[in-house]
Amino acid sequence: IRHLVVILGDHLDPESAVLTDFDPEQDCCWMAEVPEESTVVWSHKARITLFLSAMRHHAESLRQRGFPLEYLTLGSHPYQSLAEALDDTLQRWQPQQIISLRPGTWQLRETLRTCAERRGIPWQERRHHNFLFSISEFAEWAKSYRQLRLEFWYRYARQKTGILMENSQPVGGRWNYDQENRQRPGPQGPGWIPEPLSFPPDAITLEVMAQIDAQFAKHPGSLAHFDWPVTPQEAEAALQDFIDQRLASFGPLQDAFWPDQVWLYHSRLSAAMNLGLLRAETVVRAVAQAFHAGRVPIASAEGFIRQVLGWREYVHGLYWLQMPDWLEQNVLQAHQPLPDFYWTGATDMACLKDTIRRTLRHGYAHHIERLMVTGLFALLLGVEPQAVHRWFLAIYVDAVEWVELPNVLGMSQYADGGWMASKPYVASGNYLQKMGGHCQGCAYQPKLATGEKACPFTVLYWDFLQTHEERFRAHPRTALQWKHLDRLSNDQLANIREQAQTIRHNLQQGRATTLNQVH
Ligand code: FAD
Repeated sequence: IRHLVVILGDHLDPESAVLTDFDPEQDCCWMAEVPEESTVVWSHKARITLFLSAMRHHAESLRQRGFPLEYLTLGSHPYQSLAEALDDTLQRWQPQQIISLRPGTWQLRETLRTCAERRGIPWQERRHHNFLFSISEFAEWAKSYRQLRLEFWYRYARQKTGILMENSQPVGGRWNYDQENRQRPGPQGPGWIPEPLSFPPDAITLEVMAQIDAQFAKHPGSLAHFDWPVTPQEAEAALQDFIDQRLASFGPLQDAFWPDQVWLYHSRLSAAMNLGLLRAETVVRAVAQAFHAGRVPIASAEGFIRQVLGWREYVHGLYWLQMPDWLEQNVLQAHQPLPDFYWTGATDMACLKDTIRRTLRHGYAHHIERLMVTGLFALLLGVEPQAVHRWFLAIYVDAVEWVELPNVLGMSQYADGGWMASKPYVASGNYLQKMGGHCQGCAYQPKLATGEKACPFTVLYWDFLQTHEERFRAHPRTALQWKHLDRLSNDQLANIREQAQTIRHNLQQGRATTLNQVH
């Protein structure tokens, strides 16, 4: 054959660049389901199901459109890894060229390169339309800055695309509507919120679910609530539903979290975009259009576009600039193991219990829960960043390394020493009380830093400030926060340190309740 067109699980764009010059007489598409992709991290059942179901739907659509396709179904072949499966195909078919998009992980890209080299077959990597900007444009942009910051990138991206721009100026006269956004919910919580459009499993998804339940029975998470979009048509319907029902209120409650509220006003479009079912450009243009048509306020449209055109493109560019070095970094020298309750939700800390249980149910938590609940606790506890990375990669349906890794090792765990985030995102239980509604029903009290009722977030927060005082006290962006240490007496500081050790010890022993007690 002429071209072997390798289509990976996050390359499911029906108009992908790998199909533009496809000749069914000489070329063949190739897709493979391999166990290693689900076991290299201990993946949530919903994450595996989503990938495999979306792949099988894509395969069916390719066949219907007349593209010849070799599809290796899980359990029907002997290969453990993509490398083994691909190598065997290359050896048998000897294609003149391999064509693919850029894989979503550095390691998989190395695998493709090595496979092609071993068989002496040229490999051509084509541009993704999962992103508005190419890696090379991002790298070119990055050259002009000593320190990369989201805000600079975001403004550049707005100017380059013209999205929410008028005569080279931001629509509404401001780049940023944070003041209107990020409100705390009232004491009664966020009130009634329209339920997002749900996509009950069809025959293909049900078949995958049965297979996952049998083959990956011990993997975390449940499939009972699986309702993710698995085709481009469903993803488009999810986008329209979000714009019609929830976008207008997205901004104000963007940073809030509340017990039993899974989605709030979030779009839950990340997985569809990351798999290639929905183009990021389609999403941001549709949202801008809704603003221009007077359907949603500028604060919500801008707040949302900042996430996709800003953050999503930014972390993608950063990932490819910084890999593979990023993976190994641990500047805060954090070496605690990840507590067991991250896999079960069995703890008496109400915010962690609720967030993790919902995560296990849906494979989803929204941004602030990832950053300021599960991520924050791991950072304050001092969990080894690579263990945190593996958990986040395993547990969320939208997890692909190019986006998960920068968010975890860079933004959340500060493992890179501030290369990505200008300061560590650390806060005490007081912050959780302000932005969320869990503290009322919790076994711990956010204002207390010592004693049996002390909130472990608060204890560990003050402990973190002490442990990393040298690094952050003189830092212009963190000095103010670290100055708060001066308010505490030496005795208080010593008590906090001791109590933090008790919490760490209890967690290491597998206890996840009554964490302040010496057992
Ligand atoms: P919305 O709140 O509706 O936001 C809209 C879109 O903006 C998202 O769909 C996403 O595409 C984009 N976006 C928002 N924030 C970010 C961000 N920080 N980085 C990149 N894109 C962003 N996102 C993933 O797609 N996969 C991950 O594995 C992932 N892991 C994360 C781990 C941590 C520790 C943190 C703090 C964030 C992570 N994020 C990840 C980013 C963000 O939390 C999710 O994109 C978002 O919660 C997905 O839900 P949503 O589609 O309802 O998002």
